[in-house]
Amino acid sequence: MKLSVRIFLTAIFVSSLMALSPWAQPSASKQDSAGHGASCAHDPSWTAPQKPFRIYGNTWYVGPRGLGVILITAASGHILIDGGVPGGAPLIEANIRSLGFNPRDIKWILNSHAHCDHAGDIAQLVRETGAQVIASAADSPLLARGGLDDPQYGDRLPFPPVQVTWQVSDNESLRLGDLVLTAYSTPGHTKGNTTWTWKSCEGARCLQMVFVGSLSAPDFKLVNNPNYPLIVKDFKRSFKMVENLPCDIALAPHPGMVDFWERFDKREQGTTDAMIDSTLCRAYAKDAREDFEEALAKQRRAAASSR
Ligand SMILES: [Zn+2]
Ligand SMILES: [Zn+2]
Repeated sequence: MKLSVRIFLTAIFVSSLMALSPWAQPSASKQDSAGHGASCAHDPSWTAPQKPFRIYGNTWYVGPRGLGVILITAASGHILIDGGVPGGAPLIEANIRSLGFNPRDIKWILNSHAHCDHAGDIAQLVRETGAQVIASAADSPLLARGGLDDPQYGDRLPFPPVQVTWQVSDNESLRLGDLVLTAYSTPGHTKGNTTWTWKSCEGARCLQMVFVGSLSAPDFKLVNNPNYPLIVKDFKRSFKMVENLPCDIALAPHPGMVDFWERFDKREQGTTDAMIDSTLCRAYAKDAREDFEEALAKQRRAAASSR
């Protein structure tokens, strides 16, 4: 097929997706603590430089200030979790290099969920590292569509499409040389939202690391959502899942979800173990559940009164 014809057909496909999407209208000022708003560039912390550092053992923070992008290293090859906003790859790669690692040693890029602030530059990172992309089966189509036709955001938050190499399912463990990670499905925020866990060690002390999936539902349509009929059931399952995970060091797509910078500051001030707090996954899930129940009750009342 000629390139011009292909571009034309792609344009038709994209515009028909937009026409089908009931939530395609931009809504300004719609933000939550997770920071989702009207565009993928609206939150300055998502591109704000942050000096990279060791979180614990072979786990490193390599993201901008406002997005948890995590590098897990081993002599057999590294793993990166999430890829920031579109255009965010140079900052992430520079952070990795400044720690003394080579981005080309990244073998896998894992994704927490298919939104532009976490999958936004995975395509670019793949081009530059040659890494394979691993994500849940349920989020793979949304990654391949570059975020278009999202059950909540419609076509408002697109990003360069990502082709997933391997799809993981709930409770599946993956091994890359010396690294073993386990994926837990925590759907709701997206249909394939995933929590990743692994162990990192310093000497004989090994801790359970958890990159907890987003459990927020900022202005989400929870009642009568034809694009995601099972959303309430999924969220409820995910709250329970995260509440019960062994969790020594909680990490998150948005560091503020798990008080990351407060803990980091305490450690900088000399409290050596300040990053370690086994209550934080549970606390995050509990808070998210309360916000969710409140929003759900409100939407159910509104739906009942409009009948
Ligand atoms: Zn999100
Ligand atoms: Zn986000």
